[in-house]
Amino acid sequence: MKCDFLIVGAGLAGSVLAERIATELNKKVVIIDRRQHIAGNIFDYRNQDGQLIHKYGPHIFHTNSQKQWDYITKFTEMYPYFHRVLGFVDGEFIPVPFNFNSLYQVFPQKFAKSLEQKLISKFGFGVKIPILKLKNDEDEDVQFLAEYIYKNVFLNYTTKQWGLTPEELDPSVTSRIPVFLSRDNRYFQDKYQGIPTNGYTKIIENMLNHNNIKVLLNTDFSEIKNDIDYKYLIYTGAIDEYFDYQFGQLPYRSLSFNFERIDSVKFQEVAQVNYPNNYDYTRITEFKHFLPNNSDKTTIAYEYPIEFINGANDRYYPIPKVENRELYEKYLKLASETQPNTFFVGRLAEYKYYNMNEVVGVALSLFESKISKM
Ligand SMILES: Cc1cc2nc3c(=O)[nH]c(=O)nc-3n(C[C@H](O)[C@H](O)[C@H](O)COP(=O)(O)OP(=O)(O)OC[C@H]3O[C@@H](n4cnc5c(N)ncnc54)[C@H](O)[C@@H]3O)c2cc1C
Repeated sequence: MKCDFLIVGAGLAGSVLAERIATELNKKVVIIDRRQHIAGNIFDYRNQDGQLIHKYGPHIFHTNSQKQWDYITKFTEMYPYFHRVLGFVDGEFIPVPFNFNSLYQVFPQKFAKSLEQKLISKFGFGVKIPILKLKNDEDEDVQFLAEYIYKNVFLNYTTKQWGLTPEELDPSVTSRIPVFLSRDNRYFQDKYQGIPTNGYTKIIENMLNHNNIKVLLNTDFSEIKNDIDYKYLIYTGAIDEYFDYQFGQLPYRSLSFNFERIDSVKFQEVAQVNYPNNYDYTRITEFKHFLPNNSDKTTIAYEYPIEFINGANDRYYPIPKVENRELYEKYLKLASETQPNTFFVGRLAEYKYYNMNEVVGVALSLFESKISKM
């Protein structure tokens, strides 16, 4: 088989590039995936109740970039959905990230009011302040609040999520936890937010629906690399796997989802409820909240973080530790020194947690800055 570009991985990164190359350059693309479906980790499917189920975890598209929004909405309509997350803390379902509404739910009104006034006068209204900054504040009540949030909202969730204590992770993980000095219960404040009305898989299907693009599923790169005659390779799989783990494996955290169909109109108040301190799962997602659906049944997913075991489960999150980043840099250096005409892009190839909009952004900029100029 012959093509101009072989793309490994029919997830978002690979599909954006396939679409751009086929449409703008009129070149022949073969895109392969070892899974039996397109769309990578944003794969979703409609269940018997007409609800779109996100197989690899709940996905909400959000961005401040008009360019990313304009690009993605060429392939879908977006339903104007605003994500809200509740955390089960001290017996209450409180808004997450912690905000003034959370404050009034967990503390006596008088104390909450005085904290609210102190925080506004120190930092202003409508801003996100890292709790590390509050921990170092001279005011004892502000320090107490930071300690409370750290212990009740962050500590156990993080330990479950990563299987590591915050001290064992990159300090940037802890330093980023915010308190939102606002009454805004939305999880994201981006200008553009939404859920594709026909799902994410449909977006990818629309991107790949082009005469210049051939899609091969159930196809692993290692099995076909010598059978396809290509000029350029775009690789969106794991970079350590590409190089046969010659410097060692890049560590990941994996997830296990336990889906349940329930004979009830609704299970919980919002799409996502976090359980930082109780149970072994980190969160429960109820998919019915994402798009209008009037079935009398609902489907939920319990999400359990688990150890990543190569060959046994999937890679989800790169583990944020300095030594892992250094190991990745060794692979990156090797790639740039030994792999001409090859581009490594996407969450696995770059060993980086990317939101969907960021993947669109890096794929578009790789296309514009390099691929379109070749
Ligand atoms: C639990 C969870 C929730 C998330 N929620 C959000 C959210 O709400 N909003 C948001 O913006 N982002 C979210 N994300 C991020 C989002 O999933 C990613 O940005 C996106 O999926 C990355 O796309 P990708 O193409 O880089 O990778 P992938 O989707 O992983 O695609 C890579 C593909 O390559 C294939 N592949 C790998 N190696 C080979 C090989 N050797 N041969 C053949 N095929 C191969 C894989 O099978 C895979 O299909 C979430 C991520 C997780 C883990």
